[in-house]
Parts: sequence; structure tokens; C-alpha cells
Amino acid sequence: MNSEPGIRALVVEDERDLGEVLTRVLMLEGWAVTSAPDGASAIRAAQAQPPDLAVLDVMLPDMTGLQVLRHLRAANPAVCVLFLTARDSVEDRVAGITAGGDDYVTKPFAMEELLARLRGLLRRAGIAGDRAPAAGLVVGDLVMDEDAREVTRAGQPIELTVTEFELLRFLMRNPRRALSKAQILDRVWSYDYGGDAHVVELYISYLRRKVDRGRDPMIHTVRGVGYILKPAG
Ligand code: CA
Repeated sequence: MNSEPGIRALVVEDERDLGEVLTRVLMLEGWAVTSAPDGASAIRAAQAQPPDLAVLDVMLPDMTGLQVLRHLRAANPAVCVLFLTARDSVEDRVAGITAGGDDYVTKPFAMEELLARLRGLLRRAGIAGDRAPAAGLVVGDLVMDEDAREVTRAGQPIELTVTEFELLRFLMRNPRRALSKAQILDRVWSYDYGGDAHVVELYISYLRRKVDRGRDPMIHTVRGVGYILKPAG
């Protein structure tokens, strides 16, 4: 996995389970993560150690994520911010704010989508410049342009649905690594999905049809574990 060990992340989320999942996922990126369940403790944490990026729930028990942001900006004007919004809440207002370079995802979201947004923010801020020069993933003759959301194999375009795209992105970020169905479920399906691993088998079969059909296969089953993506041949 990519790793930018210098990156300090702050997770501000009052839903405890979600806060814990976010913390774990961001630590797996190799980032140093602090978490806070409300605005006041987030501001204290940021004063002690200004973060490079923050994941901010908009609706916190004591204030809004936008108010927290003002404090973060005072400590570090360059902080990258990703808001978490509820579908029916202040999405429009947040969308207005994101014109300033911040971004947001609407709950529930898949962790791969959230990570892609965070990497995009860091890239645009020049923080992850050396590690992630372009938004491109390449495995063998399979190429993904994450920003344009385009995929080709041997130069042939492949049309994917949103879920297929997130699944392939996770596989392509972890090439030659056996991934369990549970791992895939955790990262590609939204955190509140709570469903069973059969949906992973189903979507792998869709991906195989689009990526591997009529070609040397790249997606392989690892018995008793899950799946692995590797260059053909
Ligand atoms: Ca909340």
C-alpha cells in the first residue's frame, strides 16, 4: 500500500463505530491519526498538533463541522478537509464551501471512495506529490484513471458501474496481494451495508466478464481466502 508517514490526520465523528472504522482505515494508509467525538475535543487536538488533513462530520453534538473548520484553518490555513454529510442535511451548503478546495462525501459511503477523495485533496495540495504524481493506477495492461473514472485494458475502454469501479480500484491498489472477501466488503461496500460476502462473489463475476473475458485472466480465486489481481501471463 502507499504510505505517506509524515501525514497527520484528524477524524472528527460522533458516531463511535464510524469514527473507529475511519481511524483504522486511515492508519492503514500509514498516516498518524487522532480522533475526536465532538468539536471541542477536535479543536483541542488540533491545537496540540495541527493536522495536514481532517475528516469532519458536519453534524456534531456541540457545533457544526464548518465551525470546527474555522478553528483548524486558524491553526493551519493549508489543512485539507473532507466533510461527511447526511444525504438530507446541509449538503448544498457544504457543496458551496467545497468550492474553496475542500471536498465532501455523503453518508453512507465506501471507504475506497473516501480514501480516493483524501488522496485527491493531498495531491492537489502538493502534500503527496512525490508519492502520487498522477491519479493513475497500472497493473499489467490494465489502466485506471481515477479522476476521469476511465478504465482500459490493452487500450480497450471498459465501462464499469460505480461499485465495479470501486472494487477494481481496491484490487488495483493492492496488486499481487490475496484479499479476503471480508476485507473487500469492508472497503468497497459502504460501512453500514452489513451484508454477506456473497455480494463480493457476484461483483467479482461481473468484473471478470468485463476485464478478463476473451483475454488472459488477471482476477484469480485464492481458495479459502478470496481473490488476487495480477498481470496476465
Ligand atoms: Ca454526526
